Amino acid sequence: MILVLNCGSSSVKYKLFNKDTLEVLHKGNEEEIIDYGLAFNHIFQELKDKGFIKNLDDIKIFGHRVVHGGEYFNKPVIIDEYVKQKIEELIKLAPLHNGANLQGIKVIEKQLPNAVQVAVFDTAFHQSIPKNAYLYPIPLSFYEEHNIRKYGFHGTSHNYVAKEAARFLSKDIEKLNLITLHLGNGSSATAIQNGKSINTSMGFTPLEGLMMGTRSGSIDPSIILYMHDTLGIDMNEINRILNKKSGLRGVCGNSDLRTIQDMINNGNEKAQLALDIFVTRIKEFIGSYAIELGHIDAIVFTGGIGENSSMVREKVFDSHLEEFLNTKLDKHLNKTVKTNCDKISVIDAKIPILVIKTDEEKEIAIGTKKTIESL
Ligand code: ADP
Repeated sequence: MILVLNCGSSSVKYKLFNKDTLEVLHKGNEEEIIDYGLAFNHIFQELKDKGFIKNLDDIKIFGHRVVHGGEYFNKPVIIDEYVKQKIEELIKLAPLHNGANLQGIKVIEKQLPNAVQVAVFDTAFHQSIPKNAYLYPIPLSFYEEHNIRKYGFHGTSHNYVAKEAARFLSKDIEKLNLITLHLGNGSSATAIQNGKSINTSMGFTPLEGLMMGTRSGSIDPSIILYMHDTLGIDMNEINRILNKKSGLRGVCGNSDLRTIQDMINNGNEKAQLALDIFVTRIKEFIGSYAIELGHIDAIVFTGGIGENSSMVREKVFDSHLEEFLNTKLDKHLNKTVKTNCDKISVIDAKIPILVIKTDEEKEIAIGTKKTIESL
């Protein structure tokens, strides 16, 4: 068995996998946790009660989601002293996440000293992005001395759906060019060339790029200076505005796309405006990544919005984009898609448009298994 853990600052999500078949045996979520030790005790008790384990040490393999791997990790790794030290060092780049991830790792280590733990990083898939795309045009010393560069996030999801797309299209992932759109509360787009990420919309932090549920995505950096210097808003509040009060919520008061769709259907103009901005941003990235890639084998929608909102997908593929890319959405298929992986473009479209259900925990289990088997 492999237990996949996503340790957040106030919750632990977990999924138990059969190591050989990668079938999900059980899953759950511990909310509002104060102490990781107690949270894990609950999880282990639940697994005992359901008959999956008899003793604590029946689970010998753990896969951890770790948000930031910096420039150190481009694939999953067995957690040892070096890895823990690097995750700790990177807390400064992902304060809300890496600290919690590391705490989870340390508590498991204490409770089960003989277990093998693997770290799977959100940033790892994007380590193939070339320097011209990951560097910001600010003085180079900020990169050299302070590690300020684009790292990208959601890598586990982009990687998973890219492999699923290859399987669906019966093509070799190493020969596949894709644009993957992970649209959820957090959203990002990735340009994938020959199976490798060559650009992505999130940057130094997950605030950059597309418009999101409550995050602004990219804005003119001078707006921050103006808010501070001219409007007198302090930096903590600006941080809150950009991360929690912007995006869909900032424009129409709601961050949940299902509610926004209902508001639009009831004639709410602000909701319509929020959706229009959201869609415009997505098209900007598709256009620029199409040019960066030159040749595209498929465009993939994933994440809560990408998988479920036919309204967003139809608005993204308007006649301009369809003409530019020489593809066409099948409006009926777009509305009826139900499986985990399906095509929603017309039969003779040059570029298939796919909807693929992401599964980050499964990708973590795959990465964990592969890492252990390669020992
Ligand atoms: P997270 O980034 O937190 O993992 P999700 O990937 O679950 O988020 O995406 C959440 C978003 O997906 C919300 O805006 C939600 O409204 C939207 N969503 C979920 N189901 C649907 C649906 N059936 N139709 C439209 N939007 C949906």
